[in-house]
Amino acid sequence: MSSSVEAGVPPEILAQYEPVIGLEVHVQLATRTKIFCACPTSFGAQPNSNVCPVCLGLPGALPVLNRQAVEMAIRAALALNCEVRQRSIFARKNYFYPDLPKGYQISQYDQPLAEHGSIEISLDGGKKRIGITRVHLEDDAGKSMHEGFKDSDRYSYVDLNRSGTPLIEIVSEPDMRSSDEAYAYLTDLKQVMQYIEVSSCDMEKGHLRCDANVSVRRRGADRFGTKAEVKNLNSFRFLKLALDHEIQRQIAILESGGQVMQETRLFNVATGETVGMRSKEHAHDYRYFPEPDLLPLRTSDAWRNRIREETPELPARKRERFASEYGIREYDAQVLTLTRAAAEYFEKAAAASGDPRTTANWVTGDLMGLLRAAGKDISESPVRAEDLGGLVRMIARGEVTGKLAKEILAKMFTSGESARAVMAREGLEQISDAGALEKIVEEVIANNPKQVAQYKAGKAAVLGFLVGQVMKASRGQANPSMVNEVLRAKLG
Ligand code: ADP
Ligand code: ZN
Ligand code: MG
Repeated sequence: MSSSVEAGVPPEILAQYEPVIGLEVHVQLATRTKIFCACPTSFGAQPNSNVCPVCLGLPGALPVLNRQAVEMAIRAALALNCEVRQRSIFARKNYFYPDLPKGYQISQYDQPLAEHGSIEISLDGGKKRIGITRVHLEDDAGKSMHEGFKDSDRYSYVDLNRSGTPLIEIVSEPDMRSSDEAYAYLTDLKQVMQYIEVSSCDMEKGHLRCDANVSVRRRGADRFGTKAEVKNLNSFRFLKLALDHEIQRQIAILESGGQVMQETRLFNVATGETVGMRSKEHAHDYRYFPEPDLLPLRTSDAWRNRIREETPELPARKRERFASEYGIREYDAQVLTLTRAAAEYFEKAAAASGDPRTTANWVTGDLMGLLRAAGKDISESPVRAEDLGGLVRMIARGEVTGKLAKEILAKMFTSGESARAVMAREGLEQISDAGALEKIVEEVIANNPKQVAQYKAGKAAVLGFLVGQVMKASRGQANPSMVNEVLRAKLG
């Protein structure tokens, strides 16, 4: 069926259908070496330099399983609440492609590493549990290069540095019902993978890749429609654009009395459309069979338990704990748990300040603003967490005003010094010297006769104005509680 009908399915028609989405996500594990050989996984090396007989697929070369890759895969599976099988099997998935020198991918098929998991994703309107069908281990292919060479009009090249890089594939249940849910799922999945440090999930480097399976059905129908699988979704934005397009395309087909074909489609970044690539391949096309060169993978109870115990607190948990333990706003808790580095920074700073709520404001507000402007991650913050905590403590004690603290923080950010060091250097130490303060107070009284008269006539609220004037005259350096005292005394 032609794709010319899809542009702009009217909203009232869209509303009659329910999209059904399941994602297959590939995550590159952050091991130092490849999954079946000792070649480095480093990015950006000279093409075809990180290779050996195993990852080149030379005849007779034997794979040796990388223990670290298995450990990371188990960590990922446990973080996704999966049951890790005691015994899983590697299988050959046979297909021909120039970047696949062995002629098959080593993957897992009917006995994967882990199954039956779930992840709770956060949506605007609350939370939703998305089932995880399975998590399995596999090796990556090399890379074909069709562009960028003088003779690219005639030739393509192959770089096998990536061949044999460890991947996990995470397959979700068809539990998502909109492109927004798919977006949220991928966001939360990425965050969990980064928290447990199994992957950088850098999409630009291909460390996180996603294929989307999507179908539509009339609302209320109890059976799923025929799905299409959309490939080449290498950014979060493309995932959403491709899904929205594909959903409309399928609805338009059904509306015009046609049938959705089960097929693999490619997202075209230039047109924002999905384009048919090939009719759906089936498992039997791959002639899966158990990998004869690898033993079954066995995981002991002790190993699984050790990994489970070592798994750090995951983002959803941390978010809830921050909100309940520190009494900070839900939104702040979310911002502060976006990365482990941010969460650790906040907790250190809060411990130093003794005032978590104010600390949360300073981290999410001023500090993150300075970091953003400098293009820095919080893990590279020039202001140490302890020093930010120290500054917040001084505000709480009334030793600096909030306004002056902002200036001090900016200077701490430039110099990397503590608040006290900045204040000493800049002569910003608080005026707690009674003599100096009295002089300023006397000036303010002399310059504001009208307000002084009002105060003396019983209008106590004017005191606030006078305090403000003194603070201003002292460039925020006067100790506010002392100002109050001295003013009252002078005014009688
Ligand atoms: P296949 O046999 O085509 O490989 P699977 O059942 O293994 O299909 O599912 C592959 C992916 O497609 C999973 O993420 C799953 O959730 C999703 N999926 C399965 N059926 C549908 C459907 N009707 N609509 C949308 N997604 C689906
Ligand atoms: Zn190798
Ligand atoms: Mg399948």
